Amino acid sequence: MTQIDWEKEVDARKDDLLADLFELLKINSVKDMAHATEEFPMGPGPAKALQKFLELAERDGFRTKNLDNLAGHFEYGDEDLEAFGLLGHMDTVPVDDNWVTNPFVPVIKGEGAEAKLYARGASDDKGPSMAAYYAVKIIKELGLPISKKIRFIVGTDEESGWACMNHYMEHEEMPKYGFSPDAEFPIINGEKAIIGVKTTFPTLDGEGEYKLESFKAGMALNMVPAAATAVVTGDVAALEAPFNDFLSKNELKGSVKIEGDKGTFALEGVGVHAMDPTLGKNAGTFLAAFLNNYKFDASGANYLKVTADYYHLDHDGGPLGISYVHPVMGNVTTPANLFEYSPEGEKYVTLNVRYPDGITYQEIESKMNETLNPFGVKAEVEEGGHLEPHYLPGDDPMVRTLLDVYEQYTGEKGEEVSIGGGTYGRILEHGVAYGALFPWRESTMHQPNEYMYVDDILKSAAIYADAIYRLIK
Ligand SMILES: [Zn+2]
Repeated sequence: MTQIDWEKEVDARKDDLLADLFELLKINSVKDMAHATEEFPMGPGPAKALQKFLELAERDGFRTKNLDNLAGHFEYGDEDLEAFGLLGHMDTVPVDDNWVTNPFVPVIKGEGAEAKLYARGASDDKGPSMAAYYAVKIIKELGLPISKKIRFIVGTDEESGWACMNHYMEHEEMPKYGFSPDAEFPIINGEKAIIGVKTTFPTLDGEGEYKLESFKAGMALNMVPAAATAVVTGDVAALEAPFNDFLSKNELKGSVKIEGDKGTFALEGVGVHAMDPTLGKNAGTFLAAFLNNYKFDASGANYLKVTADYYHLDHDGGPLGISYVHPVMGNVTTPANLFEYSPEGEKYVTLNVRYPDGITYQEIESKMNETLNPFGVKAEVEEGGHLEPHYLPGDDPMVRTLLDVYEQYTGEKGEEVSIGGGTYGRILEHGVAYGALFPWRESTMHQPNEYMYVDDILKSAAIYADAIYRLIK
């Protein structure tokens, strides 16, 4: 059989591909729960993008299925064949005022190899999904013999709760094998487990020179807090100068507002995604570390001490007794991301723990309880996380094939990559994430002025077509 020139096949369909992609990008598919209805569970936008995607598939002669406007799929190949899965998503993260162009009016700027397509969703994930879509379309149009059918599943809630995939799995069987074109090349074949561990503090009797009236930090479990606020009573004027010293010594920003014996301490750190907490400066733990230098009431002192001694500046669980390193997947990470304290009410710190193969959430919970027990602190794994790490070895045949194809089209070495999680790749029992961001490109996913190089969209489509065909022929 003659070699198929996948790049040529993609090139012949370049205008169609871009026209279809523009149609998807024009739909504002940010999750919009304010307008959610029974018909549109994520709001009208995500459903319209899903419908558009399925409409294209129907136009091109694929079997399609819409599962209540939450998720859907199309199929190619004999219905009885085992399915090879592809997983993308039609929802996007929100937009802000920092866009130069209208995020929902796609526009190509630059020429030739420098041409970039700007729009929300261009690189996450409508662009990569369309590249994979055209890969399947080409395989169909060439009428190539296949031994597995392709099932291309798209969701509308990837960016927040994955309600789409939960719904899908309640009603459809998830393919066992496959990949998700929703991350980076060369591949992501390892993803840590992701859990929330809530540590709840006791109310203790005993006064101090100062009283902790409230402590708050953090917006989301998967973000290292950028801001923290504590209200303290006592001789707070005496803390003002040391606080400013502490801020400048640690290159942080902040302010103190003093009203009589009450001081409100605000601290600004560097908020980052919890996947790599070493890149950030945790506003919550820094503020606790400062206040921990003073004599507080028993409850407040206990809260500040544990935070300062066990959660501050340590990202791998060492002080908690849960550090562990997997040779490929890396170490346990433990940023403390949600803080709440009130003297008579709730007192907790919730950690976003991510861990590789080789340690379990039961071990993490019991070790943390052992460590924190002397302080009366109780650690509990929250429901709704990803309890299992996901890892396909580097010598797995599918991983090997995907890396081979990547190497062939880029001339770069294709090595396995493990991350803090979580991509759609982990939904498939034998799944990975594969593209479409090339490692030498900056990521603009989730950022204003998101773009994708037009050449990268086309190259990904060729890589996907070649890889999928090798895996299903
Ligand atoms: Zn995505």
